[in-house]
Amino acid sequence: MENMTTDSAIQFDALGFDKLGLAPPLLKAVVDTGYTTPTPIQAKAIPLALQGLDLMAGAQTGTGKTAAFALPILQKLLPFASSSTSPAKHPIRALVLTPTRELAIQVEQSIKVYAKHTPLKSLVVFGGIDIKTQTPHLKTGIEILVATPGRLLDHVEQKTLNLGQVQILVLDEADRMLDMGFMPDLKRILALLPKQRQNLMFSATFSNEIKKLADDFLTNPVLVEVARSNATNDNVMQQVYQLAQSDKQAFLTQLLLKDDAQQVIVFTKTKVTASRLSRALQKEGVAADAIHGDKSQKERIEALDAFKAGKITVLVATDVAARGLDISDLPMVINYEIPSAPEDYVHRIGRTGRAGASGIAISFVSEDEEEYLTNIEKLIKKTLIKEKAQVSTTARKTTQQPARDTATKIHGDSIDSNSAKHAAKPRQHTRKPAADPWFDKPYEPSVNTTETNKSLINSNLKAPVAALLGGIRPNR
Ligand code: AMP
Repeated sequence: MENMTTDSAIQFDALGFDKLGLAPPLLKAVVDTGYTTPTPIQAKAIPLALQGLDLMAGAQTGTGKTAAFALPILQKLLPFASSSTSPAKHPIRALVLTPTRELAIQVEQSIKVYAKHTPLKSLVVFGGIDIKTQTPHLKTGIEILVATPGRLLDHVEQKTLNLGQVQILVLDEADRMLDMGFMPDLKRILALLPKQRQNLMFSATFSNEIKKLADDFLTNPVLVEVARSNATNDNVMQQVYQLAQSDKQAFLTQLLLKDDAQQVIVFTKTKVTASRLSRALQKEGVAADAIHGDKSQKERIEALDAFKAGKITVLVATDVAARGLDISDLPMVINYEIPSAPEDYVHRIGRTGRAGASGIAISFVSEDEEEYLTNIEKLIKKTLIKEKAQVSTTARKTTQQPARDTATKIHGDSIDSNSAKHAAKPRQHTRKPAADPWFDKPYEPSVNTTETNKSLINSNLKAPVAALLGGIRPNR
């Protein structure tokens, strides 16, 4: 594997899209989107992918990785583009696998944007909706299929698609797919593809498992890295508030109401907390909604659309539901609860500071979460600024924190599986037909009761709340 250096990234950065060897219809689409300069991952990955090489690309969320694989795919398929209406002229030639339906939807939307000046057709299939509604679209013939693994296999079983002509495979957020137990499904899918094909693997983090996956599935891959693995984005200012679990709701309301908070995603560990918190915020006059795995696909899309349209300002989300969300210009994320899996922190805060914009990531850390924070700091190789939260007595009085959060943690009956995955033994993934497998996973209890490691690092670098929430607006 060839490891590219940061110096070469700087060099590449100066090149415009027109220097990447993209065909005119694709360049036109890029210009239409308003992009002027390729992001580092695009500048590095596009020329290599155009050469037909296998890639193992380390790019965190928000780095423009979708265009980094979508543009070369489209270019490679251009010679096969046909305006014929015959389905036979549109076999599936590129397959993009994503861990979640949200990411699948977003990726396919981007592909459509980049393909708009070509006759190439794309489609997205994911679980949680009636499979029959997807079949007619598949039958019309499409060159690029974006899919979640479980639903793809459902279609294979029902013989509603054929993967025999796939030339390019993309594994997007490969680390997530492994975390979610998709390995058996991936193996099955890979066995159905022609051996002669190009493979592009994208992963935000590079664990040993990911390296093993790359060894198994990629052929002489070129390693393309634009940020240190497991690194957080330097554009994101990270701030930690230390406070009691019972004060979190009051402090959140205080933060949100203090200044006109712009759009914020608030992360919780459990579905129960997400629902309860969004209701509590609504009562306090904050336009909030929750998305989590118990919500129907329709409800989640509605909440997301309302958030994107600015109708709601606070989206309370679990890690599962928020994965892959691309909301441009999101200035802030708040970790209401610290994830027990440190990689989730990287993913969460990757929701802000996208495509070079600046962002703020605030984390609420109670005493029993300090250990998780220490692990996060180890992973991201940064010591985070910590400050004791000043919770106003008025905010404290108006909010009542039910003891339920703690109960949920102990019993684990509503913990989103991903949050708990590092605390519990990884389970074997079992796929049920006609549903996105991720949401079929039983909840795994978090059983980590280790005494916390209290590291109260005092910092001179105070980031006043007013500044964080509007007094000084982040550059966007
Ligand atoms: P991604 O990492 O693919 O999810 O992309 C993150 C965001 O960056 C999306 O909103 C893209 O539309 C945007 N984006 C991708 N490439 C560029 C670019 N070259 N210039 C500006 N924005 C971009």
